Amino acid sequence: MDRKAKYQLGIKRKVLVVDDEYVNRQMLGYIISQQYDVLYAENGRDALEKIRATRTELSLVLLDIMMPEMDGFELMQIMKGDDDLKSIPVIVLTSEETAEVKSLKLGAADFIMKPYNRPEVILARVGRIVELSEGRNLIQDTERDSLTGLYNQNYFYKYARELDHFFADWEMDAVVIDVDHFHLVNALYGRPFGNEVLKRIADTLRSILSDIMDGYACRYEADMFFLYCTHLDDYEVVRSKIMDELDSLADGRKIRVRFGVYSDVDRSLSVEERFDRAKLASAQIRNNYVKAISYYDGNTHKEALFAERLIHDVHSAIDNKDLVVFYQPKYGILGEEPVLRSAEALIRWNHPELGMINPGKFVPLFEQNGLIQLLDHYVWEEAAKQVRRWKDENGVTVPVSVNVSRMDIYDPRLEARLLDILDRNNLEPSDYMLEITESAYADDSDQLIEVVERLRGKGFKVEMDDFGSGYSSLNMLTMLPIDVLKLDMQFVKNVHTDEKSLKLIQLIMDIAEFMNVTVIAEGVENEEQYKLLKQAGCDIIQGFYFSKPVSAEEFVEFFK
Ligand code: C2E
Ligand code: MG
Ligand code: MG
Repeated sequence: MDRKAKYQLGIKRKVLVVDDEYVNRQMLGYIISQQYDVLYAENGRDALEKIRATRTELSLVLLDIMMPEMDGFELMQIMKGDDDLKSIPVIVLTSEETAEVKSLKLGAADFIMKPYNRPEVILARVGRIVELSEGRNLIQDTERDSLTGLYNQNYFYKYARELDHFFADWEMDAVVIDVDHFHLVNALYGRPFGNEVLKRIADTLRSILSDIMDGYACRYEADMFFLYCTHLDDYEVVRSKIMDELDSLADGRKIRVRFGVYSDVDRSLSVEERFDRAKLASAQIRNNYVKAISYYDGNTHKEALFAERLIHDVHSAIDNKDLVVFYQPKYGILGEEPVLRSAEALIRWNHPELGMINPGKFVPLFEQNGLIQLLDHYVWEEAAKQVRRWKDENGVTVPVSVNVSRMDIYDPRLEARLLDILDRNNLEPSDYMLEITESAYADDSDQLIEVVERLRGKGFKVEMDDFGSGYSSLNMLTMLPIDVLKLDMQFVKNVHTDEKSLKLIQLIMDIAEFMNVTVIAEGVENEEQYKLLKQAGCDIIQGFYFSKPVSAEEFVEFFK
């Protein structure tokens, strides 16, 4: 079967006609070919091969009984015993009624008597059996995902292997398609909307598979799709089709789809391994807002190894204090002169072999696998000790804010843990602030609100980090019980070049004032930004303009 034929096959249902007599085959084929795509086999063995090759798309077998090599009974027997084949309906072609009983026992769905002199009756029977069996398949079908109608992973892998088998010379790609932060899409816009997003992606994949390329698609898990398809040089075409579809649905809401592509797969790898590579490529751009398609290459592997190395080393890094906490000052700017108000604790990894590693390299990684909690607990402890030391050795109180990850929020011991840290270091909750990343707010806002309220009840000040980085709405501000809002850096970056940014900041400032919330601008790098933010009424500023994050020893400079 060539590729072109295969495209056309997608349009009509496939029916296999099995008869050893050429004239019978042709006659029957002629009758049903207006409505069906007809395949032919001339004996049971030949038929079995064709059934196996096409069984995922085969709607019906029309089967003669008396044939050389392997007769119809034997074929039915085999099909009945094969889990993959037994659901394909068979209509027996016979000239003698005595075959009926045996055929029925073997699971025949119907009979057509030879000779074929009533074409309309034949078509009606064929049509009825196809319909019946499809109805049944709908109920029993575990082959397909009920939401999107795409294959489930097990079937998908199986069909991919089959495709390999029958088209051994095709150049194939393994592609993983992911919706970025799908849990947020669900949380912000509701599950029905999330489902619609998944359906639209599936529909687009289906249409692409019939128009541009050949292959199979599946929903691998919640928001991850796999595509095993004939090679394409550039997946931008596919991505933009999906994005067009989603844009028409999303109406300004942010939904982003990410591609990991393992091109021209090495067939000596298992299908699963090929998709592992595509997944690796995709994971590489998980938090990259510029790049939406990532192709697997030698580097992908290197980076994955690097990630594994970090995961492996994190425990010893904590024991050996290779993980160091740096502090970046925050200055109050309401008065004449900027005043040191507090500091943010930011982790650094001084790796004995790999050198200094920035949190951008490992924080997202550890957020994925839960290790972030280990790291955060370490930082919280170190930061508390530092506040104590500054009090004791320098006679100053500098409250420190620590970053709290989404995972920490779901930890039922969070509050107890923080109180214990303060207790052991003889500190007050006012010595300590909590920065909660904005994406956590959208996740399960009810639970978050509850946790934040409890922490505030104990006297902790809660800051909302990175406000405006993506998933926030001004409206959300009004719902959340926070003390401080930290404007995302992207905002601040454009404040002196883009009027809209400034207007927006002013608007946020008004709302914050109304709600009695302090505003911090972070990422302030120059005088211009500083002045504009001061004018706009911003309370506190953090950024390279004052200082980059520095070690605890260097921080003492700021006390002067
Ligand atoms: P963040 O919490 O929003 O921290 C602010 C980041 O902005 C820091 O990057 C800081 O060095 C950087 N920054 C400050 N001022 C400027 C500026 O003027 N210009 C520019 N371009 N950058 C500035 P850093 O230290 O690389 O941390 C990056 C992110 O990693 C943090 O963003 C935070 O989300 C995460 N992170 C850092 N330490 C921890 C930690 O202990 N726990 C957790 N969960 N996350 C952490
Ligand atoms: Mg922060
Ligand atoms: Mg931030």
